[in-house]
Amino acid sequence: MYADRLSALPPYLFARIDAMKAEKARSGADIIDLGVGDPDLATPPHVVEALCTAARDPANHHYPSYAGMAAYREAVAGWYQRRFGTDLDPATEVLALMGSKDGIAHIPEAFVNPGDVVLAPSPGYPVYRTSTLFAEGTLFDLPLVEENGFLPDLDAIPADVARRARLLFVNYPNNPTGAVAPLSFYDEVVAFAREHDVIVVSDNAYSEISYDGYWAPSFLEADGAMEVGVEMHSLSKTYNMTGWRIGMAVGNAEVLAGLGRVKTNVDSGVFDAVQLAAIAALSGPQDCVAAACRVYQERRDVLVDGLRSLGYRVAAPKATFYVWLPVEDSMAFAARLLDEAAIVATPGVGFGPHGEGYVRFALTRPVERICEALERMEAMR
Ligand SMILES: *Cc1c(COP(=O)(O)O)cnc(C)c1O
Repeated sequence: MYADRLSALPPYLFARIDAMKAEKARSGADIIDLGVGDPDLATPPHVVEALCTAARDPANHHYPSYAGMAAYREAVAGWYQRRFGTDLDPATEVLALMGSKDGIAHIPEAFVNPGDVVLAPSPGYPVYRTSTLFAEGTLFDLPLVEENGFLPDLDAIPADVARRARLLFVNYPNNPTGAVAPLSFYDEVVAFAREHDVIVVSDNAYSEISYDGYWAPSFLEADGAMEVGVEMHSLSKTYNMTGWRIGMAVGNAEVLAGLGRVKTNVDSGVFDAVQLAAIAALSGPQDCVAAACRVYQERRDVLVDGLRSLGYRVAAPKATFYVWLPVEDSMAFAARLLDEAAIVATPGVGFGPHGEGYVRFALTRPVERICEALERMEAMR
């Protein structure tokens, strides 16, 4: 019944966890879901207000422009300038997205011919892999291992693979490992891209979710980055707007034009009222972001301290809302957590082969629930 490209998709391991979770819920268990990478916090009220006002204006009820409203693209450029010191031309170097997933899912369609190689992190956000498969590209896993600070070793990419590579995905602050990259890493990425004529796609969805005074850089801050790549960003994680579907691709104008051509044929732009609300988020007061980070930081400290006192070896992430816990067998551990403690965590192997040996906890539940989860884990041993 289904096309070959659907059967080519890797087995969706998360579906197995979902089924187990549903079964557990039917048995009446009080489930603590630390599986989802979706903030439990609300979108800031001034952003919701801006949407309501804009939604009432009939001028906003029409097809939006494909690339995004000029005012939205200017707000994105202004935010990038204030946050990262980068100069972007709103007309050609900013493109509105329906969340960064939109850009990640469609960019291979514009640049990858059948058989071209796409370099993507393992473990990594599953869409790098599936979008490559849809474009009939060949995925080459870049292992992210603890010994290398969960950064890919670009020198280890075989010469024949580098020669056939078209795209390189990088993602810091990283989902699922919680690792961060120094700006010098992006210098290496630019050098690699120049040498091998590869387009860089940086996924910076978590740049604003950070702790202990750490500020994540943008790939575009590296010298020469604008010549070799783009960055996908989003309001989803920064402003608790996952449901709103609004993000941006920024960087090299030619690359954005290619992505834009694909998108012109599959969607009709982001609802203007949502773009106007996004302008309120990007251009308004930013204390809501700091407040959210304080909430996640407290949860992080409680979870990491608790896991350590249970005898686990675990790192406290400087950014993202994920804790990446080394375990023996990721699927077995996640299944046991659910079965014996009604806790949902994501098995690392679901993020690619090099995610085996870990489970991911998301800090998207209140601190009381995290304490309860730790008590249940203690009883489990
Ligand atoms: C959440 C997430 C995204 C996509 O979020 P959007 O809601 O589509 O903007 C992209 N990359 C990573 C690594 C994510 O975790």
